[in-house]
Amino acid sequence: MSKKKIVIEPNPILRKKSNILEKVDGELRKLMDDMLETMYDAPGIGLAAVQIGVLKRVIVIDIAKGDEKKNPLFLVNPEITFRSSKTSTYEEGCLSLPSHFAEVERPAECHLNFIDYNGKKKDLKASGLLATCIQHEVDHLDGILFIDHISKLKRDMIIKKLIKSKKELDKVIL
Ligand code: ZN
Repeated sequence: MSKKKIVIEPNPILRKKSNILEKVDGELRKLMDDMLETMYDAPGIGLAAVQIGVLKRVIVIDIAKGDEKKNPLFLVNPEITFRSSKTSTYEEGCLSLPSHFAEVERPAECHLNFIDYNGKKKDLKASGLLATCIQHEVDHLDGILFIDHISKLKRDMIIKKLIKSKKELDKVIL
């Protein structure tokens, strides 16, 4: 496994649609292992392949808290088949938008079809934090960020701050 660099917004790749995968092979499993290591290291509870610059429909998630046993979930070609009309609101952040958070309202429950780490077709019913996390990550595969779900005013403010902090980072590197 090796840790990868996380792509930070604004970056046009984060707005691209990721591609469907034909099969789960060793190469894809290596990508998933790298994604998991990168996510744990960050640390975060979800990561889409596009966030390390790979336009493939793959997500890793682990919502286990600090002391709890690790419980990684690997989702290949995830497809949300149901979204509840009941909604819930979480304070969301994103590894591609470091230090920025906003309340996002999403369906409280969702159902999902996907292919797992071993190439098996699976389905899943999710609620609570897991449902929010899945929807946030599936959004990434379609070039959507959590800030797209908040007001334009707040979104523009966050992007402005990200551009500023990126420029400051460049100054330090130079
Ligand atoms: Zn994210």
